[in-house]
Amino acid sequence: MLRVGLGTDLHRLVQGRRFILGGVEISSDRGELGHSDGDVLIHAIIDSFLGATASGDIGEFFPPTDPRWKDGNSLDMLGVVYSHLQEQGWHLLNLDCVVCTEKPRILPSRDKIRDSLARALRVKNDDIFIKGKTGEGIGPVGEGLAVEAMAVCLLEK
Ligand code: MG
Repeated sequence: MLRVGLGTDLHRLVQGRRFILGGVEISSDRGELGHSDGDVLIHAIIDSFLGATASGDIGEFFPPTDPRWKDGNSLDMLGVVYSHLQEQGWHLLNLDCVVCTEKPRILPSRDKIRDSLARALRVKNDDIFIKGKTGEGIGPVGEGLAVEAMAVCLLEK
């Protein structure tokens, strides 16, 4: 059986926070505000996995009120969710993602992020792709106020 899943997420960008995508820290004067480390890409990926398997949404797995995930590493959250899926017999075939941010640019870090996610999910980095988009200077992304991510996954059981 094949199942497709879609996930999106958006975080505010503020000074004094780290900018982390797919577990990789990228040099930036602003970072993602969030209860956890704010890794918007991993949160979108998690929601795509949960959607594909009709398992709920990220807020049910990791309530924002739960002190265990305060400033938590989103790679650990991804590990929890993916292990849960694997226990049910699912494995990832491929993952396609878009990250929308005015800056920093995604391209210079793209392959590092793909490697990080491939390691976490134990797939080949060719099974994961990430595209960067800007907001063309308008809207919350374009004005540098937010970063948004989208992910589509294909799972097999
Ligand atoms: Mg989030």
